[in-house]
Amino acid sequence: MDKQRDFVLRTIEERGVKFVRLWFTDVVGTLKSVAIAPAEVEGAFTEGIGFDGSAIEGLSRTYESDLLAYPDPTTFQTLPWRGDIDPTARMFCDITTPDGEPAVADPRNVLKRTLARAADRGFTFYTHPEIEFYLLKSSKFGPEGPQPVDSAGYFDNVPGGTAHDFRRRSVRMLEDLGISVEFSHHEAGPGQNEIDLRYADALTTADNIMTFRTVIKEVAIEQGVYATFMPKPFSQFPGSGMHTHLSLFEGDANAFYEAGSQYQLSKIGRHFIAGLLRHAHEISAVTNQFVNSYKRLWGGDEAPSFVCWGHNNRSALVRVPLYKPNKGQSARVEYRAIDSAANPYLAFSLLLAAGMKGIEEGYELPAEAEDDVWALTDSERRALGYSPLPASLDHAIEFMENSELVAETLGEQVYNYVLANKRAEWRDYRTQVTPFELQRNVEIL
Ligand code: GLN
Ligand code: MG
Ligand code: MG
Ligand code: MG
Repeated sequence: MDKQRDFVLRTIEERGVKFVRLWFTDVVGTLKSVAIAPAEVEGAFTEGIGFDGSAIEGLSRTYESDLLAYPDPTTFQTLPWRGDIDPTARMFCDITTPDGEPAVADPRNVLKRTLARAADRGFTFYTHPEIEFYLLKSSKFGPEGPQPVDSAGYFDNVPGGTAHDFRRRSVRMLEDLGISVEFSHHEAGPGQNEIDLRYADALTTADNIMTFRTVIKEVAIEQGVYATFMPKPFSQFPGSGMHTHLSLFEGDANAFYEAGSQYQLSKIGRHFIAGLLRHAHEISAVTNQFVNSYKRLWGGDEAPSFVCWGHNNRSALVRVPLYKPNKGQSARVEYRAIDSAANPYLAFSLLLAAGMKGIEEGYELPAEAEDDVWALTDSERRALGYSPLPASLDHAIEFMENSELVAETLGEQVYNYVLANKRAEWRDYRTQVTPFELQRNVEIL
């Protein structure tokens, strides 16, 4: 640790860094930032930087509103979009109470705690997100709704198009920030893009996703367009998911891999999937946390709607990707419900907890879905045991209210905050009279 602190202090000196931003994330998943002068950094490492937590969504109860941010020196990076003149750097922080206890409502701490529990059982958790988002001409729009920057589709190469330059610039910036990108391409919707980050341990991935969102927004502004991670900005086009590939390692060995078994999937892998399936409903208010998230889940276009798993089945909630011979270490499962607006720290905590529960309790994996589950009738799906995901945020809240797993994993304070916050969103939403109702009803009723 001390070596890393020294490295940070030396780098600040050598590169003439003028501002250091301390980053952390609130319970909803919004990035928070406070800039300090380079001279303050050494003190921040040892004594933390004090701030008023009561002003931050879900972070503290009023009686413990003084909190401290301790920068994590392993996350030090200079911010490429700030340029070389008066360089700016950032570090992610851990939040503590004044007496040095980790703040219970710090999402990064929730994930650290969940990872430590898995580590006690010998597991390291790796994640690889495929992040989808839309590029719009502007964040402002008239009655015709948001305008995408192009009319291209899946894997289209748009010569001279915004999306192409945009991805090149973003990928370059991400690489400069130490974030490896595996794929990037135009997605199916007009103006929709996808960038996939290389797999890394879940804490690093969650930090990377927060950085990613900032980079994408910054590059968009630089190019005169606007980027949105909203799960379903258009009813007629696909939503933006964040399919996440999950794996557990025991030391250097992938615990999901077993040569010779079905799909080379180990027992541990099978129990893990069973855990994801059994707890999918109750974690939904976190993996899909907005009213709008459920418009994506029920809008078709390859977003999952039913709880089942399949081998390379894109209509399933959990997909086991095609096995690549000689790549045993790449055995993994893809969770397809989570969307691009989730708080990655909390969502990864719950995915891990659900999978670990499956391992601990030895949940049996149900039979795999071989058909296109959307093409089946309701009664066929019922007979096969494929239950629907929550239909709305309201429905998801109900599941979460009855979940011991979620309460235990998030901790009482975050659990209660998320529930209160989501109930308030639903209350506001359901008082709205929508264009749908007006169009259908005004003339005939
Ligand atoms: N956009 C789809 C979703 O919301 C995913 C499309 C794909 O990558 N196959 O989940
Ligand atoms: Mg993809
Ligand atoms: Mg995609
Ligand atoms: Mg995918």
